[in-house]
Amino acid sequence: MILCLRCKKVWANGSRTCGSCRSTLGKRFCDEGHESPLSADCCIVCGTAKLTPGVPCLNLRPFTYLVILAIGYVLLPILFRLTVHYAAVIWEMCLHAVLIPILETAIFSWIAARVLGPRAAQLVSDFWHGVFRLSLQGIEVLGRGLKSLWRSL
Ligand SMILES: [Zn+2]
Ligand SMILES: [Zn+2]
Repeated sequence: MILCLRCKKVWANGSRTCGSCRSTLGKRFCDEGHESPLSADCCIVCGTAKLTPGVPCLNLRPFTYLVILAIGYVLLPILFRLTVHYAAVIWEMCLHAVLIPILETAIFSWIAARVLGPRAAQLVSDFWHGVFRLSLQGIEVLGRGLKSLWRSL
């Protein structure tokens, strides 16, 4: 980006003329298209005094990179902390909502099978096979969803 120092307006990279004050940015040109410095009163190639009005300008490209770098420097640690935070929260949720109930149910069903005899044990084992099959299907569906998401990216 190029900043016209007279108008304080920013123009796209490679712009030759300021769109606001119609002066050529950082250089002066004659009718032949020869390039002269801002300080020149006549063309340094053909000598004509008919030059475009020039205006001092500032190339903002290094500043743009600097700003992007600064934003990245500030944002990345925040993003990283958020990611770690949410990973911990999700892990905790999984632990409380899924793993601990499963563990509790498993212990309970083990005790129930011991107390209630072989028929109850058979029911319990059927139940766990069902749960296992369902979670396998869930993982498969999740995997398929993630794969199609990956392909659409
Ligand atoms: Zn201008
Ligand atoms: Zn010239």
